[in-house]
Amino acid sequence: MTKIGLEIHCQLTKLNSKLFCSCKADYREFEPNTNICPICMGLPGSLPRLNQKAVEKATTIALALSCQVPEKIAFFRKNYFYPDLPKNFQITQLNVYGPTSIGEKGMVNVEDKEIRIRRIQLEEDPGRLIYEGTSEKTQITLVDYNRAGTPLVEIVTEPDFDNPKQVRIFLNILSDLLENLGVSEPTLEGAMRADGNVSIENGPKVEIKNIGSFHDLEKALHFEITRQESLSSRDIPIAQETRHWDDRRKVTVSARTKEEEMDYRYFPEGDIPWIKIADARIQKLKEDMPESISSKKQRYVTQFDIPPQVADVLSSDKFYSDLFEKSHDEKNAKDIANLITTDLMGLVDTREKREQSKLKPNHLQDLVSAIQASRITRTSAKTALQEMVKSGKSLEEIIKDLDLGKSDEGELEKIVDEVISQETKAVEEAKANPQTINYLVGKVMQKTKGKADPIITLELFKKKLS
Ligand code: ZN
Ligand code: MN
Repeated sequence: MTKIGLEIHCQLTKLNSKLFCSCKADYREFEPNTNICPICMGLPGSLPRLNQKAVEKATTIALALSCQVPEKIAFFRKNYFYPDLPKNFQITQLNVYGPTSIGEKGMVNVEDKEIRIRRIQLEEDPGRLIYEGTSEKTQITLVDYNRAGTPLVEIVTEPDFDNPKQVRIFLNILSDLLENLGVSEPTLEGAMRADGNVSIENGPKVEIKNIGSFHDLEKALHFEITRQESLSSRDIPIAQETRHWDDRRKVTVSARTKEEEMDYRYFPEGDIPWIKIADARIQKLKEDMPESISSKKQRYVTQFDIPPQVADVLSSDKFYSDLFEKSHDEKNAKDIANLITTDLMGLVDTREKREQSKLKPNHLQDLVSAIQASRITRTSAKTALQEMVKSGKSLEEIIKDLDLGKSDEGELEKIVDEVISQETKAVEEAKANPQTINYLVGKVMQKTKGKADPIITLELFKKKLS
């Protein structure tokens, strides 16, 4: 039997400042080593000051994952010497004198399986090492401390996953949940990182570190299971070790053994007192929590009669559901939902495209009204939507600029006659077999660049050919 467990690090990217100082939590725009101060650099005499918003966001995550939140939380120093850690210790949490970590004993449903959350802890991110080439064969390693001290939540699961596919579904659920809570933007580079541990047949546990993407994690887990099964079938013992994912060769490789023998010499962080999490504060956080994805989905189905698959896509993506919430009313909800999940999807499928998109909720309202009033065709609506995303122009401007107004019937009749005179062979065929009439309708659509109403066009042909 295969057992997989995960350790996931999520940055609280929606915070303004780092976990223990006032440097920016969003370090990505800065020149290397410019988003730093004596506190996050661990200079002698500096003292950490805990970001209360980070405690709140981490508590919200713990609650959303059905965790128990302890009465008091405490911080510990995890000591290790590595160039990405300017203080030579990381301030983190540990359940050594009872539960003092921000959450424990949570649960997430992945299809029919319950995945238990062992623990959630709040900690600081280390700096970033930049290698020339790979970390194994590098001549030059540069260090950037801009990230050091960024608030992280580490989520540790029990080894409840049976296969890599479950892991990927879980990570997607978790990433949607964090985004929906408004605590993180998981699609930002490095905002969500996962380590996996794998064992087969109750054998030793192998940890895989350094995985850049969910997709790679799935591949790494597959590779690791196959590797262990192959060793086991030849009676070769599986070593309990840490392995790295070699992204280029698509294999896991044994890490230097020194890394596993590390003794972190944890001890209480004396510069931060224990913090009481009052019941009233937890109550308030619960009340302020945004509507969950599953509740949104349920509501879209029952309130607006939106098909479950459409409601699923709409609710699980915060970008779509925010847009939907701001644009729909009772009458147009279903059409707006369709427009978002069919036509809009391909136009804003990456983070960059979403950031550049000029689309506003009123664009969708106008577009659906115009379709409902038969002012433009579905084909033209698609073109207009593209233009809205690109330029942010109003529907009226776009209709005028791109000449998307629907062809009127007189005009349409002229074009139909034109097609009939040009396509003599197809006309004969259509007379014999009415099914082939669609070819002629297609010709009209081509000539009008999608502005013709297909149903009216079809009627015109039927009338003229009978
Ligand atoms: Zn700082
Ligand atoms: Mn950690």
